[in-house]
Amino acid sequence: MMEINKCPICNSTEIIPYFSTRDYFFTNEEFSISKCNSCNFIFTNPVPAKEEIAKYYNTDKYLSHDTNSNGLLGKLYNTIRDFNLKNKYSIIKKYIQQGSALDIGSGTGEFLNFLKNKNWKTHGIEPEKKAREFAINKYKLEIFDENKLNQLNKNEFDLISMWHVLEHVYEINERLQIIHSLLKDDGIFINALPMIDSPDSLRFGKYWAGLDVPRHLHHFSHDTFQLLANNCGFELIDKYPLKFDSYYVSYLSHKALNNSLALIRGLADGCISNMKADSKRNYSSMIFVLRKK
Ligand SMILES: [Zn+2]
Repeated sequence: MMEINKCPICNSTEIIPYFSTRDYFFTNEEFSISKCNSCNFIFTNPVPAKEEIAKYYNTDKYLSHDTNSNGLLGKLYNTIRDFNLKNKYSIIKKYIQQGSALDIGSGTGEFLNFLKNKNWKTHGIEPEKKAREFAINKYKLEIFDENKLNQLNKNEFDLISMWHVLEHVYEINERLQIIHSLLKDDGIFINALPMIDSPDSLRFGKYWAGLDVPRHLHHFSHDTFQLLANNCGFELIDKYPLKFDSYYVSYLSHKALNNSLALIRGLADGCISNMKADSKRNYSSMIFVLRKK
């Protein structure tokens, strides 16, 4: 395990223990969460060493989402995924019509495939080998491992996206600096994150599924993400809610609590969370649209 003694965002050494939680979805191991007393950034601490983190990813389960599309839940999952793809694309089109896209953490490739079908030039980065090979074989996409990030041309991309990825990344400053260098001056960077200041996070506390330790190393709020982005040369130009996430996260949180009727209660709590969220600010998950300063 690796202990973090300095705030990853503001470098303050005033790190305080915040609370403990568990990996409710896979190993049931206990993990601690720290908070920076200076900028309020919340992060998992200590974190597994980089060589150890792969064992916390149950890749087959992630991949099974795509292959087991039979059954009611599978169909529902696919319907929501298609809706989300169209929603993401409708946001992108407000800023940019077509060009060259880089999706970092491209998973099984559905988002890049959607863009490719709209005649975008697409590149993907995916550290997980099975997911990468799945996307390459199924959609004929160009997907690379993370080493490729340092070999791509500067000022190359009109769009760089990370959908629920930054919270998994070890070096968040370095990652945003690389994105800054790869993005064209008039390009946009889209980053979607689970929000620790959302109503469903406050409702479920240490059982909130958006914590997802130890896979989520960093737990952003609206303010801490904006501070990080600003430090790395980005300005926030817009933000949008991902409203479906509150239902799924609430459902998983009820499962973590071993509550009966998790699906029904998750739907109800997801609905409440969306109603409580401030306009465009602290939904369960948010999409941030950024440009270079
Ligand atoms: Zn800090």
